[in-house]
This record gives sequence, structure tokens and C-alpha cells, in this order.
Amino acid sequence: MEQYNFSNLNRKERIERTLNQDLDLIIIGGGITGAGIAFDAAQRGLRTLLLEKKDFASGTSSKSTKLIHGGLRYLKQLEFGLVRETGLERSIAHHNICHLVHPEKMLLPIVTKGSFSSFTAGIAIDVYDRLANVPKKHRKKKINKAQTLSKAPLLNPAILKSSIEYAEYRTDDARLTMELIKASRLDHNEAFNYMEVTDFTYSESTLNGVECLDKITNKKITFKAKSIISSTGPWVDDLKQKDSSNATKNLFLSKGVHIVISRERFPLDTSIYFDAFDDRMIFAIPRGRAVYIGTTDDPYSGDKDDLRCTHSDAEYLLNTTNNMFPELGLSIHDIESTWTGLRPLILQKGKSATEISRKDEIFISDSGLISIAGGKLTGYRKMAKKIIDLVFEKRKDLDKIKCSTRQLKIHSSPFENYDEYLLYIENACKNNPDLSPELIQHLGSTYGKITGAIIENARSLGTEKNLELNIVESQIRYTLSHESTFHPLDFLDRRTGWLFFDIPKVKKYKNLASSILSKELGLDSTRSTQLIAETDESIDIHTIKYLKSNP
Ligand code: FAD
Repeated sequence: MEQYNFSNLNRKERIERTLNQDLDLIIIGGGITGAGIAFDAAQRGLRTLLLEKKDFASGTSSKSTKLIHGGLRYLKQLEFGLVRETGLERSIAHHNICHLVHPEKMLLPIVTKGSFSSFTAGIAIDVYDRLANVPKKHRKKKINKAQTLSKAPLLNPAILKSSIEYAEYRTDDARLTMELIKASRLDHNEAFNYMEVTDFTYSESTLNGVECLDKITNKKITFKAKSIISSTGPWVDDLKQKDSSNATKNLFLSKGVHIVISRERFPLDTSIYFDAFDDRMIFAIPRGRAVYIGTTDDPYSGDKDDLRCTHSDAEYLLNTTNNMFPELGLSIHDIESTWTGLRPLILQKGKSATEISRKDEIFISDSGLISIAGGKLTGYRKMAKKIIDLVFEKRKDLDKIKCSTRQLKIHSSPFENYDEYLLYIENACKNNPDLSPELIQHLGSTYGKITGAIIENARSLGTEKNLELNIVESQIRYTLSHESTFHPLDFLDRRTGWLFFDIPKVKKYKNLASSILSKELGLDSTRSTQLIAETDESIDIHTIKYLKSNP
């Protein structure tokens, strides 16, 4: 592994180099939308800077249901265009970064008084498969009651009639965002986390830069560029208000909660999309040692930087799950962790959160600020294309270059196809018999072909400690040097997903993460104590401890 290149260890030099450059584009917001825009812009030769106020993907883009999907339910709203667009994007994302976008079979149980009859579900999924060009062999399959129960034995036999199995893809939203940002750093294009845009600068009344607070050094910095894009998701209206040339509100925020149960307590081997009580539908998706269930969809007007799963959010998901899987008898005490995100939807007067379209929209202010919001994780590439096409249209000083991201791999060392990925995992298991296949799979589906280097580095750390501990240390060091990890939570949450899916690992390794990061980044004891306290607080907020103390 090379020493470091996308790190807060060389942040000062990277900032100085960026300040000396003539930037074409500043992108505010390091979620999937900003990351996709930075990737597209870099491929078209634009000199680009991306600024994120916390960690990359710390907003909605680590809090989704983690599906790359067309959204079957949008067919009910007759959103054929949206379903077709996102449906087609699924296989493009799978092709471009297959270790992060895995094919996933989804089971849709047909139940008494459910949203779908076998007939309507059959037609809807047929349309879904056709709109998304799903190859014939992967198209929907109707399954009778007995076969359904053999796939998901805990489903409620009293209401179950049959089911339909259809094709979707699952992902790791935060890692997808990270890989896009890493791949966008061509030719000294840059991206900084912990860099908050606090204000705009203007030449006459045209926007020409941003004022930032570097939250690592507490210093103010001004960056200048010819075009400025706000892809700040739920914060889009706040940025528009700072740019007082156009302060109208356009967003409707909808809160979505997921809860996580251990797989021991909820032994589910297939992903399921099932009816809730209120004409909504819920996913239950196995991932590693856990199953996650979600989501809620409720209007939100509270603090966007402090989102919490409440008792009633959790009860709604538990009751819905117990209704479909009555033998489980899940209670609040079975919840290992939770996450809560905000959908930045485009305001449509008179419509409820569930009814509002998931389409994206672009707003351009009088000063030239381009804001984009709405949309879905799945549609990030198309949103980026639209925005960068617009930048080229507006900027007569640039030679027009076409979007090339449709076929472009998003990794420094990509897999050619999924078979190559599966073979890589198989060989890694053979070559490392002292490591569990689950651990190798986790590494492979997190870092792709970097897995080999992470294991090799762990082995070079010596034999005094056990190999699993060395692997964690190797991961921390890799993400510190190559993925701008600063806070222990960056590692425990966005880089590994453990805060949601593996609380035992979080508890076991949080001190290791904070001690390595503090030492290497040269943090004083006050700062590192503060980061440890923030980590502990976040663990409490995301686990049963918070739900128990806030009935
Ligand atoms: P964000 O990810 O929120 O990024 C905006 C970023 O801007 C944040 O990181 C924030 O810190 C930063 N920022 C804000 N202000 C500033 C500032 N002043 N300076 C610098 N940075 C700033 N889509 C799917 O395709 N599949 C799914 O399965 C799916 N499930 C979902 C489930 C839930 C519960 C929710 C809420 C959404 C789901 N979505 C899904 C939708 C998808 O997650 C979102 O559309 C997407 O993540 C939005 O990304 P974004 O980059 O626009 O916003």
C-alpha cells in the first residue's frame, strides 16, 4: 500500500495546493449526489473541489435502505419514467462497481388483505422487470405457499397465500459514496471532509466563491470557483437562504427509520418486501450477522443534525414485523441498533410524505447558485449527468465534453464482472485458511481488490496480537491514509458499517480506532477525549440504551 494520498495527514498541503488552483467547480455536500457530480465532472476534465461539513456520507447517504432499486411502489403512483430510469441504472451501477452493488432476490409475499393480489403483483413486477430491461432468466418467479414457507419459514401461514420473487440489488451507500469521491480525485481535483461552507462570496452580484470553516483546524478559508453547486440534500434550503438572491423553500423533509435485529433472533435468509398496517410496505433485509427492517416515512421539521429513532418509530416497525412473522414476538429489547435519515423531497402541496414523488429537481438562483435535491441513491449517475451537462451549457468558456460515466468503472482496481469478484473471494478464502469466510466476504464487499493488501498489511504487523485485531488495525490505517478518516465514528460508522450491523465489534474496537487515529493525527488529549465522548454518545443514540431511556 502506498503511504497516503487522500488523508487528513496531508490535509494542509492539499488545501494549499487547492488554493493555488483555478477551480472550475465547487460542489457543496459530500453525500451520494455530490460524490456523483464530482466523479462526472472529473471525467469531463473540470477542475473540481468537493466540500463536506462533517464526514463524507454522514447525511442521508449512509441512512438509506441500501438498495439499488427501481422502487416497485412508485408503479402504484404511476411514475413509469422514474421506475424506468432508476431500474436501468441498477445494472449500470452493478457493472461499474460490482463489489458494492450485489444482485439480491427479493420476496414479495401475497397475503390476505395485502397491497397486492397475485394477479396485480404479477403484472406490476412484469412491468417493473421490462422497464428495467431485466434479462429473461432473472425475471420474476411466482412461488406457491409451501415453497414460500421453505424460503421464509417464519412468515405468518394464516395470511400467506403465495409470493413472487424478483430481482433487485443491494449496496453499501456510504462506501459507494466514498468510492465515487476517491475516483473523482483525478489530476489534483480535491475533496475535504470537516469543511463547512458558512457563506458565499460574490463579484458584483454573481457568485464566485465560498467561505468555509475548517472544523479540524478551526480556521476560516475562502475558495473561489466559476461555478458552484449545492448538493446538500436536506440542507439545500439552508444554503439557498445564505445565498439571499433566492431564498424560497423547496424541500419537504421526510424521516425514515431502520431498526436492526441480530440474525440469531430473526433467522431470515432472504430479503422480503412486505405489507405494513397502513398501506405502506416495509423491507426486512439480512446483512452479515444481522437483519435490518425499515422504513418509516413521516414529515420532519426538527434538528437536521440530530436525528433519532423514537419509541413510536421502533414500535411501528416491530408491530409490522410481528404481524408478518408472529412467532418472532420481537420487542424493543431485541433491537441492537437503529439509524434515522431524512429524505430531501421536493415540496408538492397537498401530498403526504409517502405520496410525494422521489424525482430530483434543479434550482438556479439569480446569483448563479445551482442546487439539486430529491432523487434517489440509485439515480445518482443520471442526476450528476444532468447537472454537469447544465454547467457546460452555461459556461461558454469550456469546451463541451460528453458524459462518459455509463461504462466507467468506479475503483482504482475494479472487477471486470461479478464472476471475477466471486472468484477473488473464493481464492482469498483458499489463500487465507486462518481467516473466516465471513470476514473475507466482509472485506471483499467493503474494499474490493484492496482486500489482499489489507490482509497482507495485517500479517506484517506481527504475531504478538491475534490476526483479527491486526486486520482491524490494518483497516483503520488504510482508511486513515486513503479515505480521510478523522473521527473514530468515521471508521466505525461510514467506513465499515459496524455501528449499524455489528455493535459487538464497535464496542471491542472503538478504543483501538480512537488511539490509532489520535496518535497518527497528532491530536491533543482534550481533542481526543472530546472525540471519544462523541463516539460513546453516538453509540448510545444508535442502540437500545437510548430507546430504553426515552420511552
Ligand atoms: P445527503 O446524503 O444528505 O448529503 C448532503 C451532504 O451535504 C451531507 O453530508 C451534509 O453534511 C452536507 N452539507 C450540508 N450543509 C453543508 C454545508 N454548509 N457545507 C458543507 N457540507 C454541507 N434511495 C435509493 O436509491 N435506495 C434506497 O434504498 C433508499 N432508501 C432510503 C431510505 C431512507 C430512510 C431515506 C431517508 C432515503 C432513502 N433513499 C434511497 C434516498 C437516498 O438515500 C437519498 O436520495 C440520497 O442519499 C440523498 O443524497 P444527497 O447526497 O442528496 O444528500
